[in-house]
Amino acid sequence: MAEPKSFRCVTCGREFPPWSVDYFCPRCGFPAGNLEVRYALGRGGLDFPDPEGVGLWRYAALLPVGAEHAVRLRAGGTPLYPCPELAEAFGLRGLWLKDDTLQPTGSCKDRGTAVAVAVARRLGRTALSCASTGNAASSLAGFCAAGGLPCYIFVPKHAPAPKVAQLVAFGARVFRVDGTYDQAFALALAASQEFGWYNRSDGLNPMVVEGNKTVAFEIWEELGDVPEAVVVAVGDGAVIAGVCKGFLELREGGWAARVPRVFGVQAEGAAAVAHAFARYRRGEPILPAEEPAQTLADSICVGKPADVVKAVRYVAETGGGYVTVRDPELLAAAQELARRAGVFAEPSGAAPYAALQRLVREGQLGPRDRVVLVLTGSGLKDPQGVTRGLPEPPLIPPDLRAVREGVERCG
Ligand SMILES: [Zn+2]
Repeated sequence: MAEPKSFRCVTCGREFPPWSVDYFCPRCGFPAGNLEVRYALGRGGLDFPDPEGVGLWRYAALLPVGAEHAVRLRAGGTPLYPCPELAEAFGLRGLWLKDDTLQPTGSCKDRGTAVAVAVARRLGRTALSCASTGNAASSLAGFCAAGGLPCYIFVPKHAPAPKVAQLVAFGARVFRVDGTYDQAFALALAASQEFGWYNRSDGLNPMVVEGNKTVAFEIWEELGDVPEAVVVAVGDGAVIAGVCKGFLELREGGWAARVPRVFGVQAEGAAAVAHAFARYRRGEPILPAEEPAQTLADSICVGKPADVVKAVRYVAETGGGYVTVRDPELLAAAQELARRAGVFAEPSGAAPYAALQRLVREGQLGPRDRVVLVLTGSGLKDPQGVTRGLPEPPLIPPDLRAVREGVERCG
């Protein structure tokens, strides 16, 4: 593991001794005072990547906690699928799918959870908590079950039933909040302070970004280089902040000569980060970022993004940008991705695929570019959401004639 040099406030730049503060700079408050973990980066003497490390613990040399504190579920180490036929169809030099739907609880959130739970154990915290649109919650519930730690979960009432089912199965204490994700988030924060729980919520806990950055390390290691662009869905901003931070640290430490442009995708109806990015480009302040949010992609239905400062600044630093897509495009992307690539992602997970068309059409990506789409959540998390509008399979009698008729009808 790497002992952090400091925890730095993203707004005022004040540096705190590592572990002296959990979540945010007391002067700037939340979310302006979110913290970033800083290291003294340099290749010399670091065992990075560690060939003996399992899953994301291969990269422990750039993580704030070592594998000895980890629980047994294996986060990270997901496949990177080359898709030459899709690359050709989109007119790209190369296209890969980073399939983070294959994490232990079915979403990319397991990366941040793995590191946050290991940190909680290192710090001797005895209970954890989290607010989530669903995936981070089921992730924390699973890792706490594996570690024998109690956890307290706050989800909005519109969280899909399969995600709530995971929580219940893992034995979490679940509070379904009769309100939005943003209200559940605020309640989880207040309750964690009241009861002393270690809060894993995205955007609040800086350890989540530390775990999330390992997806960048895996892409770099597998390709033997960094691609020209990476595309990922954005809700509260913690995942894209991690993607960017990973690549920026690879450059800072001398492992990579450059960073890929990182593009964030949001639903048109829940685009607070994309709008904050546009304001930042015009020279305006990032905060406050708060707007109504509505989209069928529940995982990215966030109106008050908690990690917006990092999600905007880091993306700007990579030279990337933001794209918004309409709900029907998200749905069509999830269905097309399943049909053409064999990867079953939830609508938010397939958002990068929806954005790709637009980025190519606008000339932001083209024949010189090798592009990685990060697929963040499994379609099994919300199967009815993904298959909306698709025909029901016919019910047939158990005889061969019915099969023959079906084959003649549908091919
Ligand atoms: Zn500050």
